[in-house]
Amino acid sequence: ELAQRMAERAVDLVKFFMKQGQMMKPGDVIDADTAELVASEFGHTVKRVSESDVEEGMFNIEDKAEDLKSRPPVVTIMGHVDHGKTSLLDAFRNANVASGEAGGITQHIGAYQVEQNGQKITFLDTPGHAAFTAMRARGAQATDVAILVVAADDSVMPQTIESISHAKAAGVPIIVAINKIDKPTADPTKVRTQLLQHDVFVESLGGEILDVEVSATKKLNLDKLLEAVLLQSEILDLKSNPDRTAEGVVIEAKLDKGRGPVGTVLVQTGTLKVGDIIVAGSEWGRVRALVNDRGEQIKEATPSTPVEVLGLQGPPQAGDRFAVVENEARAREISEYRQRLARDKAVARQAGQRGSLEQMMSQLQTSGLKQFPLVIKGDVQGSVEAIVAALDKLGTDEVQARIVHAGAGAITESDVSLAETSGAVIIGFNVRANKQARAAADHIGIEVRYYNIIYDLIDDIKQAMSGLLSPER
Ligand code: GDP
Repeated sequence: ELAQRMAERAVDLVKFFMKQGQMMKPGDVIDADTAELVASEFGHTVKRVSESDVEEGMFNIEDKAEDLKSRPPVVTIMGHVDHGKTSLLDAFRNANVASGEAGGITQHIGAYQVEQNGQKITFLDTPGHAAFTAMRARGAQATDVAILVVAADDSVMPQTIESISHAKAAGVPIIVAINKIDKPTADPTKVRTQLLQHDVFVESLGGEILDVEVSATKKLNLDKLLEAVLLQSEILDLKSNPDRTAEGVVIEAKLDKGRGPVGTVLVQTGTLKVGDIIVAGSEWGRVRALVNDRGEQIKEATPSTPVEVLGLQGPPQAGDRFAVVENEARAREISEYRQRLARDKAVARQAGQRGSLEQMMSQLQTSGLKQFPLVIKGDVQGSVEAIVAALDKLGTDEVQARIVHAGAGAITESDVSLAETSGAVIIGFNVRANKQARAAADHIGIEVRYYNIIYDLIDDIKQAMSGLLSPER
C-alpha cells in the first residue's frame, strides 16, 4: 500500500528493506515512523495526517442565531417487550400512509415521518432502548423525545425501568403512552403511581411529564399522543440551519443486491442534496439518489428528514456521523484515513486476542470460565449491535458469550465455516440462511437458530448459558 501511495514498485520497497537487513513482503505491516523514513528515502515529502486535521471543518461550523429555523422532532419509542412499541410505530406509519398521497406505501428504511396539524414528526423505526443505546455508544444522539410505552393491563416492568434510565442518561425528555386502554383489565392509574417510584411524575398526577392514554390497535388517542410530542418539542425549541452543507447520523446501512451500499441517514443540520459528496464513518460517496420513507426519489433532504442515500462506496455503520465535504479528494482522504485507523485497531485487537485467548485457557483451567461462542447475523446493523450489546451484558464470572462474528446480511456459507472452526451456534435475527449455507450447516451439523424478537433471543441464550454453569452446590 505504501508503494502504491508513493507510486513506486513494491519490489523496490522490498529491496530497500532487504538492504536494511529486514525481510519484508507485500502485506506486512510497518509502523508510521518506518513508513515516514522509507517515504523520505524515496524522495517523498511526508505530511502526517491526524484525526484533528481530518475532522477540521466537519461538525463544528457555528451557526448564527438568525439562520436557525424550527425543525421536526425525532422520536424513539421505548418500553417493555409486548407493551406495544411495534404496534404504535405501525399505527402511526399506516395512518400516515392512508392520509398521504396515492400509492404511498411506506418502505422500511429505519425511520419515517408523519404529519400532525401540518407539522412533521420523525419516528425512528427501531423500537426499544437497545438500538438507542448502541447509537449513543457510537457518540450519536439522534433522539429528541422518547415515548415510553407502558401497557395498562400490565405494570412497570424491567425494560420500562431501563428505558427510563437510558432516556434520563441521555437527557431526552419522556412522554408516557399508557397503552392498551381498550382492554377490560386496563388500569392506567396503577401505571401512573408505579411510575412515580421511578421518578416519572406524570402531568395527570400533577407532575411535568406528559402522559396520554392510548390504544395502538384500536387507534385511540393517537393524535393526542402526537400533539403531546409537538407540545414537548415546542418546549425544547428544536432548531437548526437548513442553509448549509448537511451533517447528521447514519441510522441503518445495508448492502442491497440491486442498489449497492445503501445508508439511511437522518439529516440533523443543513440540507443534503443529490450530487453532494459525503463521508459517512469510513465510507464516502457522491450522492446518486435520495429516497424517502415512501420510496420516492427526492432532490434534497432538510433537517430531521430520514432518507436513504445511494452512491456510497460501502455501507457505513449505524451510529456513524456523516457530513458533506467540499470535494472527492477530501472525501477519499478522510475515508482512507479512517479505514486505516480501523484496520490498525483490528490488528491490535487480534494481537490482543491471542494473548487473551491464552489467558482464557489458563483461566479455564483454574477458574472454570466457560465461553459460549456465537455467530450473529441480523437484517440491519443497528439490531446486530443491539444484540451484541445485550449479550455482552449477560456474561458472568463463570460463563460469557463470545461473539465470533456479528454482521448484517443473510447467513452464508462463510458464516457456517466460521461457526465450524469456532464451535459456534449461528443466530439469525430477521434473516435466513441461504440455500448453500443451509446445506452446509446440515451437512456439518451446525445449529442455526432464528429469531425475530430480541428479547426471545437473549432469553434463549441466557438459558443456554445457564446450562453451561456448574451445578449449584
Ligand atoms: P412490542 O414488543 O412492545 O413491540 O409490542 P407489540 O407492538 O408487538 O405488541 C404486543 C402485543 O400486544 C401484540 O399482540 C399487539 O397486538 C398487542 N397490543 C398492542 N397494542 C395494543 C392495544 O392498544 N390494545 C390491545 N388490546 N392489544 C395491543
